[in-house]
This record gives sequence, C-alpha cells and structure tokens, in this order.
Amino acid sequence: MPILLGAIADDFTGATDLANTLVKEGMRTVQIIGVPGAGIDVGDADAVVVALKSRTIPADEAVRQSLEALEWLRAGGARQIFFKYCSTFDSTDTGNIGPVADALLDALGGKMTIACPAFPTNGRTVYRGYLFVGDELLSESPMKDHPLTPMRDANLVRVLGRQTPNAVGLVSHEHVSKGATEIGEALQDLKASGVRHAIVDAIDDGDLRVIGEAVKGFELVTGGSGIALGLPENYRRDGLLESATAASLPDADGRAAVLAGSCSVATRNQLAHVAEKWPAYAIEPGRLANGERIADEALSWASRLEAGTPPVIYSSAAPEDVARAQQAIGRDRAGALVEEAMAKIAVGLVAQGVRRFVVAGGETSGAVVSALGVRALRIGPEIDPGVPWTEATGEPTLALALKSGNFGDEDFFTRALEMLP
Ligand code: ADP
Repeated sequence: MPILLGAIADDFTGATDLANTLVKEGMRTVQIIGVPGAGIDVGDADAVVVALKSRTIPADEAVRQSLEALEWLRAGGARQIFFKYCSTFDSTDTGNIGPVADALLDALGGKMTIACPAFPTNGRTVYRGYLFVGDELLSESPMKDHPLTPMRDANLVRVLGRQTPNAVGLVSHEHVSKGATEIGEALQDLKASGVRHAIVDAIDDGDLRVIGEAVKGFELVTGGSGIALGLPENYRRDGLLESATAASLPDADGRAAVLAGSCSVATRNQLAHVAEKWPAYAIEPGRLANGERIADEALSWASRLEAGTPPVIYSSAAPEDVARAQQAIGRDRAGALVEEAMAKIAVGLVAQGVRRFVVAGGETSGAVVSALGVRALRIGPEIDPGVPWTEATGEPTLALALKSGNFGDEDFFTRALEMLP
C-alpha cells in the first residue's frame, strides 16, 4: 500500500509529536530518523514522518535534506506532503521555514501552501495572523529570548515574509469560523492575487479540523502538529483509510530497562517513585571523567538482577549537583560523557537480552537510539500525553518509550512497562 501522507519534521521530538497525533486520528504511522536511505521498510504505514534535525542548520542544508526526504516519500507514493515545524514558529529571518516551504512547493509543482503553527491544546493560537503563547503574544513570551531562534515579532505574515521572496497572505478567523468551503474560497482568492504562503488563523481544534478539510487537494501543507488533526479524515472520506485503525503495542519480548539522563523535575520525581519498587544504579559524571569503567560496572550490576526486575540506570541529579559536575568537568563534556555511557549501557543491555527500554531525556534518547542503530520507529499507543510506545524495526525488534524530560506523570516508568503484555 502506498503512503498517503508523507511528513518532513525539522526536529526529532516534533516528529514524534506529529506521528502521535496521526496515530490518534487513526493512521498507522512510522517515524524515520534522518533522511531515509535504501532498505527502510515502512510496512503497511499510512503515514511516514521523516525526523530531520534541520531547524537551525544553514538554510541551504535544510533545503537539501528536506528535498531528499521529499524524493523518498514521493517514491513511496505519498499523495500529500506535510512540512512540520514548531508551534512557536521557531526560525530566523534567514530561515528555515520559508526556504524549505518554497523548495518543497517548487519541487511539487504547487502554486500555494498554508502555514498554520496553531496548537490550541498547548496554548498556541493564531488570530489575525498574530501568534499567541497562552495569553501572551509570541514576541512577549519566553520565546523572545530563545538562544537560537529568538522570536521578537508575533505577526506571522511579516515573519514569514522576511524568509521568502514570495507573497505571504492571511486567511483570517472571520473566514475560518464559517467552515471549510469559506476557507477554500478565501484561499482561492489569495492564490489568484499571487499569494504563495497563506497564514491561517486557528484558535481551537474545531478550526484546525475545518482547515484540514479545506486543504484536501493541496500538494503541501505546512504547520505545527495541530493542523495535522484534520488531514486523516480527508483520506477516510475518500475511502483510502480504514475507519480508525487502533494503534498496536510494540511486539518485543524480553527484559525491560529504564535509562534516565534527564535532570528535569518530572524525571527526578519519576525516579524517586520507581526507586521504591526496583533497584537503581547512579552514574556520576565525576567518576566518568576520572576514566572509571562505569558502563561496565553498571552492566555487570544489571546482569546480576533477577530476570523479572528491570534495571534502572540514571545520571539524573539535582541542579546543585549538576552545577558542581559542570564546574569541575565543563558543561558539554559532562553531558557528552553521560550520553556516551548511556549509549554504551544500552548496547550492553541489548546483548544481555533487554528488548524493552524506557528512556528519559531528549538528548539521552537521541544518543541511545543512534547507538542502537535504530532507523525507523512504528508509533504505538500513547502512554502519557505526547509520549507513545514505539517499536524499532530491525534486528532485534525493540520496544522504546522515548520521553522528553519534563513529560509524564510520577508513575510513568512502571505504568509504561505495565502496558506491555
Ligand atoms: P531533557 O529532555 O530533560 O532536556 P536531555 O537528555 O535532553 O534531557 O538532556 C540532559 C542532558 O544533561 C544530557 O546531555 C545529559 O547527558 C546531561 N546530564 C545528565 N545527567 C547529568 C549530570 N548528572 N551532570 C551533568 N550533566 C548531566
């Protein structure tokens, strides 16, 4: 079966967020890590999300990677392409949203696309072209001080206008509130006047669904994960998608382990909770810097546990301990040493028969996934908002729950593993 929706996301967690939305809306979804190469099998996926790391790289490189991903997705049959970026429109005047959207549209031979970052569930709404984060304008929100992409203008028509030589227009909420036909007409009017990118207002999920309906025939749709809400229904109406396919759990039999490299409050609470149930092993960056063989020690400790007891291995520490380690070894070196150790431990655990991993921390997850050679993830059911179980296709099959540090309730680790049969 050909892919229905092919998506290109400009970062890893954003890709997972989008994949998770598509699964909840009934599309079987596979997430691919990096520009897909030969030999990747996406099985019976209805949607494929390619996770790039292209948000803040030079624009020409972001364009190149996005076009490569596009070519692969089209070869797989994708009938519609989705370019996913952050719901706070993270970008600078040199890109990368405008340049990538222009390049994709050119390659697809399209005349116009929409740009809709709205994600009302997370407080991101667009009204009269202005992006709000909760009650604040984007330009007054903490995003104004982002280290890489400071957002100092909330008017998306202007922001995108600085990133593209093409005309940018607006479909305002007056049109959106009247439904899909009215939105379609407003888009046609903009197209006739030469607009190539239409910012579209959206203040709730109902808006996102009707916008999704209105862009049915568009070769390219761009936005946050929210705007993907309304797309699956178009395929369902055309008889291309079975009515709501339930997401299935990963099929990976074997021991389980928890690896935590996030120092966030949520993760530290989750560790305190799980420590009452399972034994835990702490990794100290200071000892890694001394050249001690901590990964081997942790693996030997894990191998002595009873088969049914998941090892919990963590580097997570309180802010004062993290600061002390960073002062002594340097911030980047401390992070790199911990990530390297976690990666080595993950590989060693697989050799011990571990097939189910819960990993806490975005960077930590990246290090683990790359050490394990994972190239594609089939997205399963959600554990907590924004965190699905996934199945890493390849040999051996692995069940992975990759959690951004601050996500999940206190009992996340135990509950995640209890979900698996
Ligand atoms: P989050 O999702 O909470 O941001 P990440 O895994 O992305 O978590 O980032 C945590 C970073 O902190 C990683 O680079 C990790 O290696 C590093 N780190 C983890 N534990 C420690 C520690 N005890 N001291 C210093 N740095 C650490």
